[in-house]
Amino acid sequence: MDCFADKKILLKITACTLMASMTAAMFSGCSGKAEDTEPSLVPTTTTTETEATTTETSTQITYTADDLRKAGVNELNSVPILMYHRVYGMKNDETEFTGGNVDKDGYNRTSEAFEADLRRYYQDGYRMMRLTDYVDGNIDVAFGYSPIILTFDDGIRDVVIQGWNDDGSPILDPTCALAILEKIKKEFPDYNVTATFFLNYKLFNNNDADDRKVMKWMVDNGYDIGNHTYDHKTLGKCDAAEIEKQIGSMYKLLNEIIPGQYVNIVALPYGSPETFPPEKPQYEKIFSGTYEGFSYTTKSSLLCSWTRSYSPFVRDYDVRRLRRIRGYDNNGKDWDIEMNFKQLSEGRRYISDGNPDTIVFPSSDNSKGDWLKNTYGHQVITYDK
Ligand SMILES: [Zn+2]
Repeated sequence: MDCFADKKILLKITACTLMASMTAAMFSGCSGKAEDTEPSLVPTTTTTETEATTTETSTQITYTADDLRKAGVNELNSVPILMYHRVYGMKNDETEFTGGNVDKDGYNRTSEAFEADLRRYYQDGYRMMRLTDYVDGNIDVAFGYSPIILTFDDGIRDVVIQGWNDDGSPILDPTCALAILEKIKKEFPDYNVTATFFLNYKLFNNNDADDRKVMKWMVDNGYDIGNHTYDHKTLGKCDAAEIEKQIGSMYKLLNEIIPGQYVNIVALPYGSPETFPPEKPQYEKIFSGTYEGFSYTTKSSLLCSWTRSYSPFVRDYDVRRLRRIRGYDNNGKDWDIEMNFKQLSEGRRYISDGNPDTIVFPSSDNSKGDWLKNTYGHQVITYDK
């Protein structure tokens, strides 16, 4: 955290050159300080990404290996996906629990604590990105910064509608999650504020017409809506027909309200099931099926979990079992926000090179050659620490 101030300075120094043309798909020295240019970092070519992606007219900021070292660029490290539920219009001292928790287990958060969380992530050098982009291996975060992903389950108290403005935007209870996100979005334009909301059939629990209208507004204004099953069933206990109904009917409803604009991602209620073994073939209905003539596929599912998620590029990343950090406070213990972000700050956080088309990391992080697994067609670039 402290050292991030240095990274901001570094960013100013290194973001000095826009190369009008590129002759090769590799990092070269920043031309503003050619005297300390290091030998080019030669891309590691893998069998899956042989297509030439650069053109003579590409515009790109380039960095030296020293820039990458100083910023700690590492795109094989971990990404925090936060799991929030309800945000209540309360001050922290109005609850009987620790640091902004509204319930004993910390699933729900005060508006004061939620807003402080968002400010803290920003100050710590995190920038938001869409969950669906992460699943697609498309991580577009500025050089030296780290991605963070926000998710909300259940829809309750996340969007509280009080009316509508003439321009079609919702008038929100200022203490609900969406209102706080919009406030932070205006204050920090470079935060790239976004979040994915996982809903059941009751949507955001306002009246149905308002909820449908706000969902359209949200997908047009940088937010995503995903599937949390039709009525919040424990899928680990359901048979194939019930799973198909729970998943399929919710996708069908989303498709009716925001056709083609929802994300094909399921947040598993109660994080169930936790695994998808061959002896439980019914669980495959989470990932594809047909309900009342409506066919669906799911590209990813999310557990409840407790900790950071893997980089989508590494071996242990499992798109069916994305891990999330519970957005709560427990005095730095039991995998609360503080404990997780402390661990991330100790050399585990994904730090971007600013280019979504490359995967950059210290060569020692893949010394056995089996940690980098999924390249999504990106160019792979390593440097010596
Ligand atoms: Zn839920």
